[in-house]
Amino acid sequence: MNDLTMISEDLLPILPALDLSTKYRLAVAEIKEEYTSEAQSLPWIIGFSGGKDSTLMAHMVFEAILDLPKSERRREIIVLSNDTLVESPVLMHHLKLSLEKIREGAESLGLPVKTVITTPPVEQTFWVNLIGRGYPSPNKQFRWCTDRMKIQPMSAYVLSEVSKSGEVILLLGVRSSESVTRAQTIAKHTVEGEKYHRHTELNGCWVYRPILNFTTDEVWQVLLQRQAPWGGSHRDLITVYRNANAGECPLVLDHSQAPSCGTGSARFGCWTCTVVTKDRSMEGLIDAGSENLEPLLDFRDWLVSIRNHRDYRETERRNGTPGAGPFSIEARKRIMERLLRTQEEVGFSLISDQEVELIKKIWESDTLMQADRFVERYYQQLSESN
Ligand code: SF4
Repeated sequence: MNDLTMISEDLLPILPALDLSTKYRLAVAEIKEEYTSEAQSLPWIIGFSGGKDSTLMAHMVFEAILDLPKSERRREIIVLSNDTLVESPVLMHHLKLSLEKIREGAESLGLPVKTVITTPPVEQTFWVNLIGRGYPSPNKQFRWCTDRMKIQPMSAYVLSEVSKSGEVILLLGVRSSESVTRAQTIAKHTVEGEKYHRHTELNGCWVYRPILNFTTDEVWQVLLQRQAPWGGSHRDLITVYRNANAGECPLVLDHSQAPSCGTGSARFGCWTCTVVTKDRSMEGLIDAGSENLEPLLDFRDWLVSIRNHRDYRETERRNGTPGAGPFSIEARKRIMERLLRTQEEVGFSLISDQEVELIKKIWESDTLMQADRFVERYYQQLSESN
């Protein structure tokens, strides 16, 4: 992998001084050069959220590869997305549509591109943890969801590719100008003069950030000015952003990024997200005409309101110590009832049959466990009083 870290010429520092069209051309030329570099056998995995940054990155990769003769398009490219299974439906629809266009476009253009969507296993979905195990809705202090629903599914996929190829290169659409925190994280991982760095948590995974030096305005300008290389324009993306007041809920592929998941006043993210105080993204979509989503917003707000309500929580933790425990079995049943009612109202699936089955099993075993504890305590008190 050493050859990857040896770059002939690092153009990045001079890019900001260039006009956008030159900057763009140079950045695409760099991607082309990297694609045909010696480590050609290592697959590229494009982290794709469907947001503006990852769309621009995929767009540039397509343009770069299209400029190569067919015989040189040898490196496999995987466009990787994640579905938490509780994604905002409008945004998920947009993501799936984009992936479909990318897949079809790649096929007709003869590009070695495939698309993959990872999901959390049924044991770790939002509903199985919340309604099954009774985890209180996530907040900043107890954000149990990001790891289970985003980091682990994508990491497992990347590692499965590492086990096939020895190493992989992960392309991330991160940009220094996104936020101060993002710039600090980027600076921490950036080694002067190197385009690649090792992923902090995934062995065998190298990270390459092709749009690091693009500003938000530049990202939008390019997307507005150019047709999508896989066909059509980026107009849908622009509409989605406008309607959802959307910032970016980033792809989270390591734990250092987890604290940013679900935060921000407006973002792409799970419709169930209780980490944000208000879901402005969903509010924006409803205002823009998706009134059918209103029951989802009501459900989410209700989840926030019951989170710390004594009547909904066990009086002891799972390990038996006193304190606010998980949602009580009764509360979990009420949440399930309300979710199923919401599902009927919106007219599309919010929870799968598999999840419902598993939740029922967990309820049974939790009820037995509670009964065991009760009996145990009863005999303990009896023996103490004798
Ligand atoms: S968007 Fe919210 S609910 Fe979804 S994974 Fe991130 S923090 Fe959790």
